[in-house]
This record gives sequence, C-alpha cells and structure tokens, in this order.
Amino acid sequence: MTIPFDNSYARLPDRFYSRVMPATVKAPRHIRINAPLASQLHIDPAWLGSAEGLGMLCGNAIVPGSEPLAQAYAGHQFGGFVPQLGDGRAILLGEVIDTENRRRDIQLKGSGRTAFSRGGDGKAALGPALREYLVSEAMHALGVPTTRALGVVSTGEEVLRQDGLLAGAVFTRVAGSHLRVGTFQYFAAREDVDALRLLTDYALRRHYPGAVESKNPALALLGSVASAQAALIAQWMGLGFIHGVMNTDNSSISGETIDYGPCAFIDAFHPQCAFSAIDRNGRYAWANQPGIAQWNLTRLAEALLPLISTDEDAAVHQAKTSLEAFLPQFGRHYHRVFGDKLGLNSEPQAGERERAFIQTTLDLLAAQRVDFTLFFSHLTRHAAGEDTSSLSAMFSDVSALNPWLAAWREITANHPRLEAMKAANPVLIPRNHRIEQAIQAAYGNDFAPFHRLAEAWQHPFEYRQEYADLQAAPTPHEVVRQTFCGT
Ligand code: AMP
Ligand code: MG
Repeated sequence: MTIPFDNSYARLPDRFYSRVMPATVKAPRHIRINAPLASQLHIDPAWLGSAEGLGMLCGNAIVPGSEPLAQAYAGHQFGGFVPQLGDGRAILLGEVIDTENRRRDIQLKGSGRTAFSRGGDGKAALGPALREYLVSEAMHALGVPTTRALGVVSTGEEVLRQDGLLAGAVFTRVAGSHLRVGTFQYFAAREDVDALRLLTDYALRRHYPGAVESKNPALALLGSVASAQAALIAQWMGLGFIHGVMNTDNSSISGETIDYGPCAFIDAFHPQCAFSAIDRNGRYAWANQPGIAQWNLTRLAEALLPLISTDEDAAVHQAKTSLEAFLPQFGRHYHRVFGDKLGLNSEPQAGERERAFIQTTLDLLAAQRVDFTLFFSHLTRHAAGEDTSSLSAMFSDVSALNPWLAAWREITANHPRLEAMKAANPVLIPRNHRIEQAIQAAYGNDFAPFHRLAEAWQHPFEYRQEYADLQAAPTPHEVVRQTFCGT
C-alpha cells in the first residue's frame, strides 16, 4: 500500500516548520478507523486496519512519501500574545489530494515531542483523543466545516496528567489545512514580510483560489477568511456549540472548526453558557463567539498590514473597512440559521420582525433554561402535526409558552417551513454527558459506548428508536458543568 502523498507545506522555507519523527510506542492497538474518510483520501481502509496501517497511525512507521514536520505558529491565548506556540504535540505526516480534488493534511496528534513542545510531553491521553474523534465526526455529520478523524489508536503507554496516569492514544486528524490566524502572527511578530507574502499566496491558492489574482491579495485573504468564519460561527450557534478555546491559534484560515479541546454543546440554554475550566471569565461563552471571531480577524488584519499597503494609514483604513463587514455578514447567516430552525418564511426571513422574534425565542429559552436541542426538535415535530405536549413538558412555567406559540403561528402564517426545520434541527447532538460516559468506560477498557456514539452521531437528523436515550437531556446527576483540555 502506498499513500499518494503530495506535500506542499514541506516545500515552503525551513523557517515555517521543524522536521521531526514521531515517537515510537510500545503496544499500539486500533480503536477505530474511519473507512469512508480513508477511501476519500485514496487510502485503502483494509490497509489502514492492518498492522501496517496501525504502524502509521501510531507513529511507529513512516509511509513512503510522508515528510513529517511540526508547523510553527504563534497566537493570542485568552487575549495574551504568545510569539511562539507551534505543533507541540502534533506532527504533519503530509498531504494528499482527495477524491474531490481537495488538498488535505494528515496529521498525528499525540505522537511525541517536537521543537515546539516547550514543557509538554507531546503525547495525548485517551479521553481527549476519543472526544475529538466523536465531536469532529459529529460536527461533520451535522454539516459544519470541520477537521476530521481518520483514526484513533491506543499506545499501550501511560501519560501523566492532572488526574494521574492515563492511558495514551494517538489521534489522526485530517484538515483542509492547519493554517491558523496564529501562523500569520508568527511571522508578523518576527517582521518577516517575505514569509507573510509566501504564506498569503499559499493560503489563497489552497483555500480561496478565486482570489489569487486579486489586486490586493492580503486584503482578499482577510475578506475570504472573514466570510468563512462568519458562516462557521453562525452554524456553531445554531447547534448550541461552544468552541471553548477560540484563541487565534485555534482560528482556522480555511474556516474549519479546529481544536476540540474543551468544547461543549449547550443543554439548558443560556447565552452566557461556558463550560471550559480554563475560561474562567466566560470569554468564549456561546453568545460571545461572533465578537471573538471578529477580534481574532482583527489580529489577522494586523499581521497582514504590511502586505495590504506600504502606507500604514492606508493599510489600516482598508483593513478596518474590510473588518466592518464581518458582523453584518455574520448577522445574515445567523438569522438565516435561526429562521430555518423556526421555519420562518424565507422571504423576508431576516426582516425586522423575524429578527425580533428570534431574539424573543432565545430569551424565552434562557428564562426557563429550556434544553436547546430538544426545544427545536420538539417544535419540528409539532410543525409536522404532533400536539404540543412534548414542548409544554419542557417549560416549568407553561404560561409563557402559549403566547410564544401564538406568535410563532402568526409569524409563520400557520405554515412553518417544515423541510427547513427538519434539516436545521438535529435530533441528536454530542451531549457532553454521553461523551464523558463513553470516555470513562474506555478508560475501563470498554469501548462499546464510544463506538455506539460514533455510529449514532453519523445520522444526527434521523429519529431512531435504538438511540432514543441519546436524545434526552442529562439528568441533574449526569450534567457536565465543566470541560477540560486534558492536555
Ligand atoms: P491547545 O490548547 O491545544 O490549542 O494547545 C496550545 C499549545 O500548547 C500548542 O502549541 C500545543 O501544541 C501545545 N500543547 C498542548 N498540549 C501539549 C503537550 N501535551 N505537549 C506539548 N505541547 C502541547
Ligand atoms: Mg490548538
């Protein structure tokens, strides 16, 4: 078996990365491989599931054509700038052109130290690896641009974390690229304008080829990334997804969701909901995500200034004008997403009245801490003809629901767009407590719950009796209040 590696990042100058070999591990074992994704990457799933495939997935074997390297990047973490971060526990094996002619990175996560590891061990514990597998694949099934999971293997070794010694794992991530806002910041911090120019050209060719020939490539890149992020964040919010660590190094140039550390899905709705244990001030709370995305894009703009214009004032002016388009653009996506969730009429779906109604709806959910996903899926079932009993059951004070329902019937003229609602309102989301339960079972060597979730969450819009338990909100005893990076 050969993998048709076609590496482009390794052709960039040396200062973009550091070459490194993955660490070898003692007793690797497959946990799960993603056969459809493998096929898309021209990798034979049977090979991936063989001893040779295991060798690649755990880092013990280097497949011909692979040129392992760790990428350099910087980033603002919780608002503070760190001039050097980089792949401290990730190693890019190389790139392939997939069956749809898209260039994709194949990267190991947790395969040992690199030049960017600082104090870390470069390894991954089983829990975070399984978590990333489940959530990134669920996000894909939910229709959200995201990095993917090609496989996860256990290493037979242990890693030391806050909770003590934990089973180790290597996760294989596939991405449109791993270019981040922080990649640009890395070179801007070093005043390396040549590198910035190369990187801009590289990013445009890879992600926004239509803009390569534009008069001002850096400005075109900024606008393209902003558009992709505007659409992405609106999708997150429509699913009650909280990324949890929207640092600029976790903000992707391609507009994919990247880095599933302490992310979480809202159960009982509140706009200021935040789960991450390291996000003490709720900087990355659900409702703050568009503002943070704009803040991150402003950091990208700053990095690109010397390319936008040699006249600094002119560069700042052009960048500002470009950035001002972000929030209105996000707003259009957001109102379309929620207009679909509520089945509002598409013309004019985001009129003044519709916008106000969306806000009223969210206020109602927040006031009674209603389960976000269940509310919209029950509303969809009601739109399809069921009575309102399942909706009413979610409200502690039903007197507030009835006027809301009357207003909803009026604004939809009694004809909510049912197909739009079905496509926008999943029955299943990766509930935090289910993930935790599966991880705990896996640490006890029972992988059945993990595999069951991976299967169930491939079809999040389908109602299936066998997964009825996965629809339910957590019981008070099951609620997960905090999530952890686990690094
Ligand atoms: P993250 O919070 O996952 O975005 O990671 C932030 C930075 O810490 C990145 O540069 C990572 O490569 C690095 N890092 C996280 N965990 C480890 C680890 N176990 N060993 C080495 N570096 C790490
Ligand atoms: Mg990261």
